[in-house]
Amino acid sequence: MQMLCKASSAVASFPCSRVRSGQCLWPGMRQLCLRKGLVYGFMRLLSTPFKTLRGASRSLRVAEFCSVSNMSSSLQIELVPCLRDNYAYLLHDAETGTVGVVDPSEAVPIIDTLSRKNWNLTYILNTHHHHDHTGGNAELKARYGAKVIGSGIDKDRIPGIDIVLKDGDKWMFAGHEVRVIETPGHTRGHISFYFPGSGAIFTGDTLFSLSCGKLFEGTPEQMHSSLQRIMSLPDGTNVYCGHEYTLSNSKFALSIEPKNEALRLYAAHVTQLRNKGLPTIPTTLKTEKACNPFLRTSSTEIRQALDIPATMNEAEALGVIRRAKDNF
Ligand SMILES: [Zn+2]
Repeated sequence: MQMLCKASSAVASFPCSRVRSGQCLWPGMRQLCLRKGLVYGFMRLLSTPFKTLRGASRSLRVAEFCSVSNMSSSLQIELVPCLRDNYAYLLHDAETGTVGVVDPSEAVPIIDTLSRKNWNLTYILNTHHHHDHTGGNAELKARYGAKVIGSGIDKDRIPGIDIVLKDGDKWMFAGHEVRVIETPGHTRGHISFYFPGSGAIFTGDTLFSLSCGKLFEGTPEQMHSSLQRIMSLPDGTNVYCGHEYTLSNSKFALSIEPKNEALRLYAAHVTQLRNKGLPTIPTTLKTEKACNPFLRTSSTEIRQALDIPATMNEAEALGVIRRAKDNF
């Protein structure tokens, strides 16, 4: 077994633990550069990723960038705070040096991070057309010659799009399979990018930690269906969403399901992280299933809190929960 560890003063013993079913699974920080397959078995035994911190951030009070090197592949995922509460994500294949960025809302933080790491940019992946997910496309494309990838449904609304994808497409990022899942509801052409080999999904503004996106161009039925598709993936899948909304989301979630013990523990953990200026992302599907009210439309406590009758189906209940949150 061979692990290459890059030393970094920012890495040290950063307390980025994470609550899953009430347990802290990430007791410490390590920075790992993993070769594909070399440590797969060992890491499967641990069955939890290691987080890496480095650098300093800007507006989110996120004290450090946080990246995850998945155990089974050489794909590194680095969180880059943008605008007020957006996250872009840099994808780096350590073997080939290929780099992509998911949802660059602005160019400067991406350029700064790429420059610091001496990385080039090959791909720009957009989950949907909103400006706070595509605002950096033009500048990044011009500077690096990166190819812009997005949904064919939104080919007229995604700046600089080069490669159009549709539901079920499998696209390769430096040898890593990327599955395209259409997840409409927030926008008509919203897609999520699922990396099965890395156990990671980029959900844009469809699934947030403890919430879902507003229904700007879709119906509760579409959002419910989109969330169900995401929830059909393995529980351990790491969810990388477009915004740091988790703390405010936790307040709404607790208001309608205050007796949910998993939610209470997670909300307390989220509060701790945010008090330290740390990101709450990634979350996991397991955590979201246990805590996210938009995935808990059959919860008796939630239905009682919002007067949702038993005769109402889950999509209709989601619509009621969404309206309640819009007015919270
Ligand atoms: Zn959006």
